[in-house]
Amino acid sequence: CAATRIFHSTRAPGDLPPESLPMTAAAYAFSLLSSSTLPGSPALVDAATGIAISYPSFLAAVRSLAGGLWCSLGLRPGDVALVVAPSRLEVPVLDFALMSIGAVVSPANPVSTPEEYAHQVALSRPVVAFAAPEVAAKLPGHVRCVVIGSDEYGRLAASDGRRAAAPAAVAVKQSDTAAVLYSSGTTGRVKAVAITHRNLIALMSLHADNREKVAREAAEAGEEPPPPAVTLLPIPLFHVFGFMMVLRSVSMGETSVLMERFDFIAALRAIERYRVTLLPAAPPVLVAMVKYEEARRRDLSSLLVIGIGGAPLGREVAEQFASVFPNVELVQGYGLTESSGAVAATVGPEESKAYGSVGKLGSHLQAKIVDPSTGYVGDDEATAATVDSEGWLKTGDLCYFNEDGFLYIVDRLKELIKYKGYQVPPAELEHILQSHPGIADAAVIPYPDEEAGELPMAFIVRQPGSNITKEQVMDYVAKQVAPYKKVRRVAFVTAIPKSPAGKILRRELVQQALSMGCRV
Ligand code: AMP
Repeated sequence: CAATRIFHSTRAPGDLPPESLPMTAAAYAFSLLSSSTLPGSPALVDAATGIAISYPSFLAAVRSLAGGLWCSLGLRPGDVALVVAPSRLEVPVLDFALMSIGAVVSPANPVSTPEEYAHQVALSRPVVAFAAPEVAAKLPGHVRCVVIGSDEYGRLAASDGRRAAAPAAVAVKQSDTAAVLYSSGTTGRVKAVAITHRNLIALMSLHADNREKVAREAAEAGEEPPPPAVTLLPIPLFHVFGFMMVLRSVSMGETSVLMERFDFIAALRAIERYRVTLLPAAPPVLVAMVKYEEARRRDLSSLLVIGIGGAPLGREVAEQFASVFPNVELVQGYGLTESSGAVAATVGPEESKAYGSVGKLGSHLQAKIVDPSTGYVGDDEATAATVDSEGWLKTGDLCYFNEDGFLYIVDRLKELIKYKGYQVPPAELEHILQSHPGIADAAVIPYPDEEAGELPMAFIVRQPGSNITKEQVMDYVAKQVAPYKKVRRVAFVTAIPKSPAGKILRRELVQQALSMGCRV
């Protein structure tokens, strides 16, 4: 795709409220929710304990906490509140309460270091932090901290909901910031990303539209529409994927089952126990489902849809998944924190068969494909800015559309390996490696080389019982790619380091490779 081209969504434009109408994302979610009878199924379930919160209790908890935040804590629209906790039941209540009074939710990873929090706080300037007890001590001392579960928190949460009448009437514009999320920082320093109420409203409406499309298709096929989803969330709530999934779940009156931290076996157990129907996850989960026997031993018959996004998923693994789990629809989606979540996704069983693609552009969206070699040369400022002067968000991803409007993500531009001037996308090699039965997981990184510039180097996790050799690894790839893309170094490891959203932490592996030196 050498020429610049603009692609428009082919999906029917959704039903969005007028932009000028003052409204918070929380109010919009609740308006969708109350457009039908309040569901009898719980809003939230804690996977580990089984403790559940019904919709009436959830709404009451949000209302009374909003009252406490407004009246006792004095939070006002635009005030930023850091939320640093694992996925516990309090977190969605807090997120909705904050958004409902126009305060800005800023969810951060609970396992970050004090230095990382200092950087995040310097960017987003929170007036208060809500922290899990085990996290509080790591936050900068100058930020007022309320410990979740403390007496102080209990008093805020138990306020008289009626005193929240003032917050309810607050005129918050849809263009106001609703949340500040932190980008992954896997290809640069972490950035604080402002997301407006309108962004979140548009995304919720997209999910509502998709549900209608799926229901329509089911009706046309003479089938029942799918039941309200029971969603297991092994993805963290501080990442845009998890954050959005909770908004979706609440706005649709569905159930979210929360997991404090990802554990594959615990996730399988939770699917069985709670009859989970929807599993949003990062690609490594899908790879594990294909590779590990345990996934076949469990009763996963409730699972209807697995939604994958956040990092590249290979066509090979997707196809293997489809053959092992023929009754589970594989939805692929693509987005960035900066785009407030998915901008492309497959919708419905037919589109889901476009394995390797991340689906079609969501309604109201346009995408511009720019040739990376001619795009912004000589204009460093424009290159540095994430949003250009025309308002396009630069994704930094190498992508293309096929003639049917399906989007394909090749890799992140910054992650391409430069071998003798050729560009090698590590994701492509990883997908090939992951398809080998003797390989449980794989990552490919650039290894510095005087002659070639960089060499593609593979880190391999062997399947239990496999004794695949370096030569076999290199041969397997060489047979399937152009010569310049061959893997030229191999190391065996026990695990591949990944971010919570499933992105390979390549910088860590490069360090590891360099420290291994000539042993590789
Ligand atoms: P983050 O904002 O941390 O979620 O990172 C966004 C980046 O994740 C994108 O720019 C892509 O590089 C990558 N990404 C997200 N979803 C996908 C996907 N389905 N396939 C390939 N890469 C993805």
